[in-house]
Amino acid sequence: MGRDATVTVNGRTYRFPDAPVVVVCIDGSEPDYMEEAVASGQMPWLKSMLPRGADLRADCVVPSFTNPNNLSIVTGQPPEVHGICGNFFYDPAKGEEVMMNDPAYLRAPTIFSAFQQLGAKIAVVTAKDKLRRLLGNGLEMKPGEAVCFSAEKADETSVAGNGIDGVVDLVGKPVPSVYSADLSEFVFAAGVKLMDSMRPDLMYLSTTDYVQHKHAPGSEGANSFYRMMDSYFIQLDAAGAVIVLTADHGMNAKHKADGSPNVLYLQSALDEFLGEGVARTILPITDPYVVHHGALGSYATVYLPAGADVTEVAAQIEGLEGVEQVLTREAAAQTFELPSDRIGELVVVTEKTRAVGTSPDRHDLSGLEVPLRSHGGVSEQRVPLVVNRHVAGIEGRRLRNFDAFDIALNHVAAGASAAAE
Ligand SMILES: [Zn+2]
Repeated sequence: MGRDATVTVNGRTYRFPDAPVVVVCIDGSEPDYMEEAVASGQMPWLKSMLPRGADLRADCVVPSFTNPNNLSIVTGQPPEVHGICGNFFYDPAKGEEVMMNDPAYLRAPTIFSAFQQLGAKIAVVTAKDKLRRLLGNGLEMKPGEAVCFSAEKADETSVAGNGIDGVVDLVGKPVPSVYSADLSEFVFAAGVKLMDSMRPDLMYLSTTDYVQHKHAPGSEGANSFYRMMDSYFIQLDAAGAVIVLTADHGMNAKHKADGSPNVLYLQSALDEFLGEGVARTILPITDPYVVHHGALGSYATVYLPAGADVTEVAAQIEGLEGVEQVLTREAAAQTFELPSDRIGELVVVTEKTRAVGTSPDRHDLSGLEVPLRSHGGVSEQRVPLVVNRHVAGIEGRRLRNFDAFDIALNHVAAGASAAAE
């Protein structure tokens, strides 16, 4: 494939890369994490790279949750195009609350599947298995050409399902616990091995925010995690890759001075306003891995029965302490670029220091070993967009995390290998 080739997918056109492109989605990477780690000397590669690279910031998608943003990054579009607006949603047709990790809910092809059709080699590694099928959707798995697997299920890979077998031997590390920093390290270790063995044209590495939910920027727990990542970035950089570091969302403390979670229990409030169970509060942060956040984020959507006075209920919610925004379905769909058929009559965003829950009895907080840090709101929308190359031609644009592949493929100086400088 020549350097003049382009790939158009979801209304955007991308140049075929000259050098491998690696987009890293550092889950929950509030910009402060890297800033603090660089300032205190924890990320020597990143510090030395920045003067020859681009240290940008971008806005993620709201709800600032993992799945909507990972899918935005790999499709280049917001949820109104790809359809994934939470980890979890209420399907009114079925009358059920369901996980949205099935590719059946995906409404757009990924950049990877479009590039594979033009002969590009693709490698996708995610920490948690919940994302694997969404990220790998449409890829024809083939050894050395297209691989997609999770660190969590690295010992269950197959050529047919993942395009690769024997991942644990390749990486030379055991499969880590799903609640560990090691799960993310496995992703980077695999990325470095794959860069060496298959040299993909496009690589996507997606971590977990286990560390960020527990540790504030600048703390030793956070710094050691960023130090670990830096030691892999330098290897990918040395291999000549164009690297973009971004995040699915930021992360903020959402607890009181005594360390207990600072929560607005929205379902309880609605039960008081409207009667028990009349409204249905959905928290799209909910997923099978709730131990570190207790399903408490800063975003909720509310379903109301036919004939309910939406404006009146919105006004009642606005009066609750800790509420930042209440939007009708139409306003939320427009403001946050969401699929209107997958959100309720109202969308509620809470303030930076406040989480939103349903009712106290429906949140198991026993797994919260440290004061709550979480995400989901507008206050976690700012994320890093750091590139190991000079970037040109983006002046005046509102940058989004889902511009990562556009920046890497269309806006870095052609042929400017960092390793050659
Ligand atoms: Zn996340």
